[in-house]
Amino acid sequence: MALLIDGKEISKQIKDELKQKAAELKSKGVEVTLAVIQVGDDPASSVYVRNKKKGCEYVGIGSLSYELPGETTQEELLGLIRELNGRRDVNGILVQLPLPEHIDEDTVIRTIDPAKDVDGFHPQSVGALCIGQPGFVSCTPAGIIQLLKRSGVEIEGKECVILGRSNIVGKPMALLMLRENATVTIAHSRTKNLKEVTGRADILIAAVGKPKMVTRDYVKKGAVVIDVGINRDENNKLCGDVDFADVEPVCSAITPVPGGVGPMTIAMLLNNCIESAGL
Ligand code: NAP
Repeated sequence: MALLIDGKEISKQIKDELKQKAAELKSKGVEVTLAVIQVGDDPASSVYVRNKKKGCEYVGIGSLSYELPGETTQEELLGLIRELNGRRDVNGILVQLPLPEHIDEDTVIRTIDPAKDVDGFHPQSVGALCIGQPGFVSCTPAGIIQLLKRSGVEIEGKECVILGRSNIVGKPMALLMLRENATVTIAHSRTKNLKEVTGRADILIAAVGKPKMVTRDYVKKGAVVIDVGINRDENNKLCGDVDFADVEPVCSAITPVPGGVGPMTIAMLLNNCIESAGL
């Protein structure tokens, strides 16, 4: 039977470590504060924002909440970000995506001060990751590295295939695995002989957004399989990009959905907030 990589448990370990660090900072008079901005009332975004605020509370990080109406103009949003950039009592700024169509996400991300870019989406943060300099790392890929390390999965020298090349998951994931000395391949919708490519992976990371697409014929026997996908199946039940029931018997370790990668994203956001305050 494959090892079940428990994201809930590992994220709790991390949050408990962060709780201690936040208390340490507090004892030195440093309060950590995250500003969370949501534009409009997309129900999924509201759930994510609520969970992020709950995470802050658990760890002992202050949160400032800005719930702006859907009609908010881009200039108004940029004005708020600039104000928060200038506030010494705000360490991190998070703008919940997606934004309404009339607002350009790239412009918004570029307006956040890179020193407060706890999501790690600013081009300066991504560039720093690319050339191996310090900076905030996108939370989901950073969480996957923690899942692997804390589950005792060796990364160095391993063949790693990442399925998906988005800016928030696939690309930063590839850079992080490279930083950990894996041999990295990125596959995507134009990749030829996809099963042959993914079948080489010692560590296969699926971030495609296609329910249960990865079946056992994509997976080498004994591989470690990380499922980033959050999708709904034909019965509207939450499922990943990996067909868990089909793949679990052939791999050596696997993350479930829910309860795998998902909980790690918030844990790493909180980690970035603590880092932004200087620990
Ligand atoms: P995305 O921006 O839609 O990117 C999907 C990637 O998969 C693209 O690079 C695309 O290739 C590739 N792809 C799509 N269909 C494919 C196919 N049939 N064969 C090979 N490659 C294919 O998605 P994302 O934002 O990276 O998210 C991926 C999944 O992770 C989604 O289910 C999302 O909900 C989930 N997610 C979870 C978390 C978390 O905290 N757990 C965080 C972020 C995202 P092209 O580039 O060629 O189009």
